Formats: sequence, C-alpha cells, structure tokens
Amino acid sequence: MRVIQVKCPQCNSPIQMKQKDSLFLCGQCNAIHVRDGGIEKLDYEIAEFSPSAQGEKVYMPFWRVYASFVIRSKNVEGGSMFKLMSFVKGSSDGGNMFIYIPASEMDPDNFKRMATQFTSGPPRYSTRLNFGGAGRLPAVVNKKDAAELADFVVVTMEAEQPGVLQRLDYTLTVNDTKLVYLPFVRGASGLMPAL
Ligand SMILES: [Zn+2]
Repeated sequence: MRVIQVKCPQCNSPIQMKQKDSLFLCGQCNAIHVRDGGIEKLDYEIAEFSPSAQGEKVYMPFWRVYASFVIRSKNVEGGSMFKLMSFVKGSSDGGNMFIYIPASEMDPDNFKRMATQFTSGPPRYSTRLNFGGAGRLPAVVNKKDAAELADFVVVTMEAEQPGVLQRLDYTLTVNDTKLVYLPFVRGASGLMPAL
C-alpha cells in the first residue's frame, strides 16, 4: 500500500495517509484539505453519535449541497404534488433544499438509498469538534462532482413515482457545498445511521 506524506497547510505538521482518501485530516489541528486542491482548506462538520449507538463507530462523508430549485414548467397527471415539493422549502414553484451526496465509495443502489434517505429527511444532530477515535471512511467524490450529482439525485427521486410526473422543466442552482461527516455503526447488514 502506498503511503503518502504531505504537510498540513494550516500548521505544517506532517500527515501520513494509507488509504485512498481524497481528503486529508491533520491530527494536530483538525484541518481537512483536498489532495488535489493544493492548500484548499475545507469547511466541515462532524455530527454527534446518538447516545444509544452500539458497536463499531464509523463516520461517513457526505457533501451537503444547498441548492435553489426553480420549476419553470410542469405537467403532472391527476393533480398529484411533486414528491420533491414536499421537502423543498418555499413556494410551489421552487425553493431551497439540502441535497445529501454520499462521498465514500459505494454501489449505485446504496448511493441512491443514502442520498434519498438524507435528502428527503435531513438529519438533525449536534456537532462535535473531532472524530473521537471513530473510523472515517475515505472520500472518493469531490466537491465539484457533488454539485453535478445533486441534479442526478433530484431526478432520481422524482422518477420513483412513474406515471405521475409527465414533464418537469427546472433549474437547480448550487449555492453552497459543505462536507458533513455523519455517524454510522457497523451491523450485520452493513453500515446503519447512528444519529
Ligand atoms: Zn494541521
């Protein structure tokens, strides 16, 4: 396994990495920066585990994309509301929403499940300042990819109700993208959210 050594752009401490994470965490000052991005320091958030969380604790990285959604025209059969509009905050023609993009490596089904779960029900949590010894899954999706995937997630969520949506013409504008680590525990059937 290749070991990469870099210096923290914030405090100059050496950081050693053994995994293919595109994000570097400095153990000295807790700064996270991007491998390809030179010295770009990322703003990030770590969610607290539920007090009842049992077992191996793992943090999974997500890009939380804050986007404005504007519907230019629509054609919906039977007067059904857009599923999407049930969690967009704003008027019936648009609003703002948080779209959660999983940043760690996973298969398409899991990606869709995670993205849909957290986008339709945004997690509530208090934050903490460090990972507290919990594992951290490597990130493979970068910030720019996340903005593009946000569009894909929105379309995927709408497409889950075939026949209802006839046509949707919309604009999605990304206002802000923040790295968020959400807590999971490893169970018999894989990683489960531990919020
Ligand atoms: Zn540092």
